[in-house]
Amino acid sequence: MGLLEGKTAIVFGLANDRSIAWGILQAFHREGATLGISYAGEALKRRILPLAEQLGCNWVEECDVSRDDQIAAAAEKAAAHFGKIDVLVHSIAFAQREELSGLFYNTTREGFRIAMDISVYSFVALAKAFQPLLNPGASLITMTYYGSVKVAPHYNVMGVAKAALEATTRYLAYDFGPQGVRVNAISAGPIRTLAAAGVSGFRDMYKYFADIAPMRENITIEDVGNAAVFLASDLSKRITGEVLYVDSGFNIVGVQIHPEFSQRQSASA
Ligand code: NAP
Repeated sequence: MGLLEGKTAIVFGLANDRSIAWGILQAFHREGATLGISYAGEALKRRILPLAEQLGCNWVEECDVSRDDQIAAAAEKAAAHFGKIDVLVHSIAFAQREELSGLFYNTTREGFRIAMDISVYSFVALAKAFQPLLNPGASLITMTYYGSVKVAPHYNVMGVAKAALEATTRYLAYDFGPQGVRVNAISAGPIRTLAAAGVSGFRDMYKYFADIAPMRENITIEDVGNAAVFLASDLSKRITGEVLYVDSGFNIVGVQIHPEFSQRQSASA
């Protein structure tokens, strides 16, 4: 029996088959969950429908999370279709491309507002809108990145947004705790997706990641999907307000040694 048998999960933020949301949806499907998928806008529909079909998912709804009316409509449609739900995944972030290169202090007021609105406030807004639909034991999950706690060059306003998102996770966890609902974040290592392509220097960061990470491997959307299964399932039923790193151990390294030096060391050991 699958770990998510009998549970209904809605995943926000599917853009294509490289999205982290796709890794999560596939893992949820494997574990027996009933699925709902939400995507950002009409332009994506053509790509999303065949993916939804692969998973036998027949709740596929557009929702631009910068729009309160669309969030309310998504919650209404979910209530009508599913009644109650057990898992909500927020796998959404956005910053204007010009904010993701160069100096952080050049961040514009509008660029800051947009990044915080779409990447952070949307999690609060979704949690509030879906609150009446959540079964006891339900799990809310969002996606963050290590640039929230340490500087990742060019990540800029998105690093600040992820710090706010992690704090948001804790505040939501506090509010939802008495209802028996858990709220956690997954901090994933770099993965080649559409969103990542917008960050200047991402290609190099991705390339050297495996040289520095203790496990010497990049991570995949399947790795994130499996961690999300744990957070969505009853196996994690007393875990809330946490940030779970899925990054081959990258975040534990305090002093990075040049990859060539560390390879010489391993060879001589
Ligand atoms: P992705 O496939 O591009 O997914 C990002 C999603 O956010 C897209 O579906 C995008 O839709 C959606 N989105 C943007 N603005 C939206 C809006 N106003 N309303 C609704 N949806 C909106 O990239 P991803 O890497 O899987 O990103 C998913 C999450 O993982 C993000 O929070 C990201 O920061 C996080 N993360 C990624 C990495 C990585 O290295 N890839 C690492 C750690 C954390 P559109 O395509 O239409 O804009």
